[in-house]
Amino acid sequence: MLEISNLRLPLDAGLSHGEDLVRRRIAKAIGCDSLRIADMRLLKRSVDARKKNDVHFVATYAFSLTGADELDAARRGCKPPAHLKLHEPYAGYRPRRLQRRPATRPVVVGTGPAGLFAAWALAKAGACPLVVERGECVDARLESVARFNGGGPLDPDSNIQFGEGGAGTFSDGKLTTNIKNPRCKDVLHIFAEAGAPEEILWQAKPHIGTDLLVDVVRRMREEIVAMGGEVRFGARFESPCFADGSLESISVVDVKTGRAECVRARHLVLACGHSARDTFQVVHDAGLFMERKPFSVGVRIEHPQKLIDRSQYGKAASHPALGAADYKLAVHLESGRGVYTFCMCPGGEVVCAASEEGGVCVNGMSRFAREGRNANAAVLVGVEDRDLPGDSVLAGVELQRMMERAAYEAAGSTYAAPAQYVGDFLAHRASDGPVDEGVDPTYARGVAWCDLRQVLPEFVSRSIEGALPLLDRRLRGFASKTAVMTGVETRSSSPVRIVRQKDTMQAVFHEGVDSSQGGSGVYPCGEGAGYAGGIMSAAVDGLRVAEALIDALACEEERG
Ligand code: FAD
Repeated sequence: MLEISNLRLPLDAGLSHGEDLVRRRIAKAIGCDSLRIADMRLLKRSVDARKKNDVHFVATYAFSLTGADELDAARRGCKPPAHLKLHEPYAGYRPRRLQRRPATRPVVVGTGPAGLFAAWALAKAGACPLVVERGECVDARLESVARFNGGGPLDPDSNIQFGEGGAGTFSDGKLTTNIKNPRCKDVLHIFAEAGAPEEILWQAKPHIGTDLLVDVVRRMREEIVAMGGEVRFGARFESPCFADGSLESISVVDVKTGRAECVRARHLVLACGHSARDTFQVVHDAGLFMERKPFSVGVRIEHPQKLIDRSQYGKAASHPALGAADYKLAVHLESGRGVYTFCMCPGGEVVCAASEEGGVCVNGMSRFAREGRNANAAVLVGVEDRDLPGDSVLAGVELQRMMERAAYEAAGSTYAAPAQYVGDFLAHRASDGPVDEGVDPTYARGVAWCDLRQVLPEFVSRSIEGALPLLDRRLRGFASKTAVMTGVETRSSSPVRIVRQKDTMQAVFHEGVDSSQGGSGVYPCGEGAGYAGGIMSAAVDGLRVAEALIDALACEEERG
């Protein structure tokens, strides 16, 4: 088969009857009769909206050229800017296979994308992992989150952050990433095989949506179990026990009964996510080396989705082949601070992402169809060392916690969120209620209108104030008076890194505590460990860590 990339296509090519149009465009680019183009398959498609009066698709297709030597055709090439080459089909993900089940099975902490993919790869290799997850299985978790959104209490072990699927389950399910790793393709295929929509394989900005993600996550867990793994919910990893610098066992607590169990473990994948603050403390107390890591804090902003569509796509905004538009903006202030938008959720809603009682933090999610009235995104400011309360390695966690408590109290200590219109924020006056034409906030527990300056650290308010007009120049309407900001966004990334060795991927001890020749046996993994940011990179890190662990198990097998 051949592969043609950088193929410019009109938006109509994205409609159900657009196939013929694509065939003709490919034929034109390579200079042949369109009847010879067969077995067309879309491999990648993005929207080029740089010129608002010329919004179009740019696509890559695989196809057969009937009655021709394809190698020869590939050598001859095609009309630029399109590019033609032989197509290499996807070979599938095949981790090294162990000869037999390990005497002591590896343990995976967490079923977020990092833990889930690590466990899935370990199970596929024949390592029969035990997976412990403090939260509930996805079906029970859906109910807990719905109860909370309806005004119920916060369950510190099962919420938007914790439970099957991890932080990404209630998300937009965006799978975009800045990392360039061949495993990204594997992740997309594994997701698709577990029931994610096929289009994630070709969308330039793939996303699954929370409504479909729950099924995908459930199916991946079922596969892990079918391949010999075990998954325990409501089971919190509490502490590790080392002998001569190597892991010997862990303590796992049943969150309902509080009963602790000692589980023999020589290999532990620690994929606890960035919100497991108690687990960070455990790791720190156990003497594993942790360091501070850059992170950001801020607010979530909501606009009408129609405003974003118009700003991004101009007149083409109503074209049926275009979905809800997204954006990604960044500015650098004279103060030296960077302010950027993050985790934009088209047609989505703002959710309470708290995992600790007495604290409020927000994030965004959307369903696959992205049909909600509002668009939301985080507006984040980079935190610098001088902003942190104290010198402790966990000072970033403390800053997050202080902001979350301030937000909780400012909004009446009911898990409502503090909110303010952009116009009021820029005019230094508190918002005191909904206004005509104002964006209607989507946060389920309701908002308390206020002055966000009372909640945010001064460097955050000042930076957002400086950034809003500049961001408005990049996206018209971004700083419109009636846009709503909801606070606080504190969990966009991990404030710490659990340091691991590059080659073995195992955690190292603080100075003064010897690590054994064989390594600590703890494999920090994913976002909480500071090695990922987002669903895709966490999943990729899960695969990488699993591969390193499988190598270690295979070496042990060879040594007998
Ligand atoms: P997590 O997903 O945080 O998973 C960690 C898991 O470990 C949790 O299930 C937790 O319950 C469990 N755990 C923690 N401590 C313990 C313990 N001691 N014992 C047992 N289990 C434990 N990213 C994107 O790329 N795209 C998006 O659209 C997107 N939207 C988001 C929307 C929301 C509302 C949120 C909260 C996050 C969103 N993110 C998004 C971020 C993304 O979810 C995370 O980057 C990703 O989930 C990190 O994966 P992880 O596996 O490292 O950790």
